[in-house]
Amino acid sequence: MTTERESIEFDVLIVGGGPAGLASAIRLMQLAQEKGQELEVALIDKGAEIGSHAVSGAILKPDVLNELMPDHMEKGCPVEAVVRGDAFYYLTAAKSMAIPMVPRYMHNKGCYIISLSRVSQWMGGVAEEMGVNIFPGFAGKEVLYGDDGRTVIGVRTGDKGLGKEGEEKSNFEPGIDLLAKVTVFAEGARGSLVKAMGVKLDLYRDKLPAVYETGIKEVIQLPEGDTFFTGKSANDIHVMGYPLGLGTPGGGFIYEMSQNRLGIGYLTALCYEDPALDPYEMFIRFKRHPFVANIIKGGKVIEQGARTVATGGYYTMPKLAVDGGLLVGGCAEIHNTPALKGVHVGMKSGMLAAEAAVAALAREDVSAAGLDGYQQAFEQSWIKSEMWEGRNFAQALSKKGIAKFVHLGAQYVTGGRGIVDPMDMEADADTLKPMVKGGSAKGPGEKYDGELYVDKLTGVYLSKTMHREDQPSHLIIPDPEVCSSQCYPEYGSPCTRFCPGNVYELELDEKSGKAHIKLNPSNCFHCKTCDIKDPYGNITWTCPEGGEGPGYTMV
Ligand SMILES: Cc1cc2nc3c(=O)[nH]c(=O)nc-3n(C[C@H](O)[C@H](O)[C@H](O)COP(=O)(O)OP(=O)(O)OC[C@H]3O[C@@H](n4cnc5c(N)ncnc54)[C@H](O)[C@@H]3O)c2cc1C
Repeated sequence: MTTERESIEFDVLIVGGGPAGLASAIRLMQLAQEKGQELEVALIDKGAEIGSHAVSGAILKPDVLNELMPDHMEKGCPVEAVVRGDAFYYLTAAKSMAIPMVPRYMHNKGCYIISLSRVSQWMGGVAEEMGVNIFPGFAGKEVLYGDDGRTVIGVRTGDKGLGKEGEEKSNFEPGIDLLAKVTVFAEGARGSLVKAMGVKLDLYRDKLPAVYETGIKEVIQLPEGDTFFTGKSANDIHVMGYPLGLGTPGGGFIYEMSQNRLGIGYLTALCYEDPALDPYEMFIRFKRHPFVANIIKGGKVIEQGARTVATGGYYTMPKLAVDGGLLVGGCAEIHNTPALKGVHVGMKSGMLAAEAAVAALAREDVSAAGLDGYQQAFEQSWIKSEMWEGRNFAQALSKKGIAKFVHLGAQYVTGGRGIVDPMDMEADADTLKPMVKGGSAKGPGEKYDGELYVDKLTGVYLSKTMHREDQPSHLIIPDPEVCSSQCYPEYGSPCTRFCPGNVYELELDEKSGKAHIKLNPSNCFHCKTCDIKDPYGNITWTCPEGGEGPGYTMV
């Protein structure tokens, strides 16, 4: 029996209400107003509200907001603080050392410190006021193609009300076919639609593999009174060294926020080799370091979130224009990795895509060639210049020992070219070394107090993550036998550690010693680490029912 579906047509459909998608939506309406045109624009997001799946640092370079909305402050843009100055530290296990030279791309004075969740929510309101049809709670489940099998004609949203085995329950609502002349994909890092489309339309030919970091972020409420940042010239702190050391790329950040709060986070590059590594534990160890513990003392975690960041840079970017579609922001690997920033470049890419879409619609040519103005505008923009300087950065970071610093130094003085250009790197799924013989998967080595140091499950609770239990798993493991008979003996089931939400639980049969992975999809932060790091590529992350997942309001 085929399901009858409603279909709705728009001029432009945007999939994803993060900064890239929202900037695109706002720019589209501005252009329509300038030209006195009618433009039907829709934006969907899988979160229950716009902003409820947005997690970031975040330091925002304000130039892009000045360009998009010069009056953003009058319009109520929620800025937590303005960066007064930067501090950069190296941590050993017990000590901290201030690094006197902050690399030029990390000079943030004058930038905004924001909660991406709050800013996305605010941008959603601006877009809606301008006439964008905003549909939170709708997940793009499948890309729709035209008769030629290549032209993107829209997106099918996920069915709601399916039972665990896919059966239609009494409250079943079929997904809707949202059709558009141009579809803008703005799904953020490791977009599930873009991943499938990339394979089908061969968007990554001759590109380096995309690589990622997993970031865990918290907002901490500090006690009344002065905070560590009061009276200090630096209110944005970046930290490298302990606990990851210098082998695996990653590091921490601590940013001042309003209302006696601070944002704290730790990123671990997914090129790590040790299958026993747990990015969540790295975050907790970072927080426990005396230097950090002193800054956060007396505080209480009031929200937690986790998300991957696309850090591979320019050489990992897919084609940006396809027949009927454009790719913007993190799902197109658009990120300035040396600067640790993807929000401003994502927003600008969304704006350039909007301009190209309007021009293509006016010419009535939305083929890949007709939309290619976006790729060209990107190549001539400051986003390209920023990303060009960092084109070999993630690759250099992934190298071992002294080679890493030689490459980074050479790139610093040559505007990113360095000694080898382009520099090669492995996909994150390929870097794990087998579990040390006789070793066993490390369990959580940290103690938690439930207030300032919380375990994974409390973190899930503090992210307000919710999924209806009685629905098909959105984490697809086509061959569970691979988990039991290959991944467990070889790598000790790394999914049970790399997932910050404890979605994957190891169950061992006492008699046979056989391992089984139990899934708790309802804990999922939608960070997508599993889709990236599983060494057998045996986990595919897909969107659950729209309107579920985290309920962020501050991170
Ligand atoms: C811990 C951490 C710290 C960071 N720090 C900084 C920083 O200080 N400064 C900075 O500039 N950048 C920072 N970044 C990177 C930055 O957050 C990202 O580059 C940026 O958010 C990318 O924007 P985006 O709009 O492309 O994607 P996202 O912000 O990821 O938004 C994508 C949206 O699309 C929705 N979506 C995805 N798939 C679908 C679908 N199929 N259907 C419907 N909706 C969908 C999601 O729910 C989400 O709302 C940080 C990231 C992390 C994780």
